[in-house]
Amino acid sequence: MSNGRVSIEDWNKMVEQGTIVDYKSVKWGDVVKSFDFRWDIGNYYLGRVWNIGPAPENVCPCGGDHLHIAVEKRFVNGEEVHSNNKVIFPACVDHDLGGAMIQIVERYGYPVSPTD
Ligand SMILES: [Zn+2]
Repeated sequence: MSNGRVSIEDWNKMVEQGTIVDYKSVKWGDVVKSFDFRWDIGNYYLGRVWNIGPAPENVCPCGGDHLHIAVEKRFVNGEEVHSNNKVIFPACVDHDLGGAMIQIVERYGYPVSPTD
């Protein structure tokens, strides 16, 4: 697998196989990759979900649920870089029009198989 852009077909396959999931599949405590772009597995934040709830007003005033991810690592084009963000709040659970953009790396308390 490449460090960056994947084909739409490969991305869709990952979605079908459940490797990349909808926000609603994510639970508190899970370790996740939050991808910046669709069809691109090289640009993402890695971290643990420590809250699911409204984002700060200045990030998104919608009041709907966002994942709050405590950033452990940041990758750009497949390379680890320094992250200025300690916490990120990717798109709303209730307003995610784009669909799946999260990969669960570890469920809280137990590892995840690729088909979990
Ligand atoms: Zn929002």
